[in-house]
Amino acid sequence: MAVRKDKITPPPAKPYETTVGTTCDICGHTVDYDAAGDHHEGDRHGWTRDSYDIAAVVMKHQTGSSYPEGTTVESSIFDVCPKCWEKVIVPFMATHGAKPREEEIDY
Ligand SMILES: [Zn+2]
Repeated sequence: MAVRKDKITPPPAKPYETTVGTTCDICGHTVDYDAAGDHHEGDRHGWTRDSYDIAAVVMKHQTGSSYPEGTTVESSIFDVCPKCWEKVIVPFMATHGAKPREEEIDY
């Protein structure tokens, strides 16, 4: 029995966008993510270069609709570094009587 072979030409790679860094909208502090893509849009640990540390700030307002046929979400996002979270956002919210809700996750 002989093995039959075909030549397969893979399709050309398609360009795509990926997050390569973040700049704080308040102080301008910039962090570049490593080329290996250890940091992704959804899990911004990227305010530190140590891959074992987590320093994420999420300030996002989302609106939209979700039906069985599909979901549409529009987001309004501020990129804020941990220092500005502590020095600008938390004090600003305190002027309105708000304190951050504290949570801890272990796994
Ligand atoms: Zn900042």
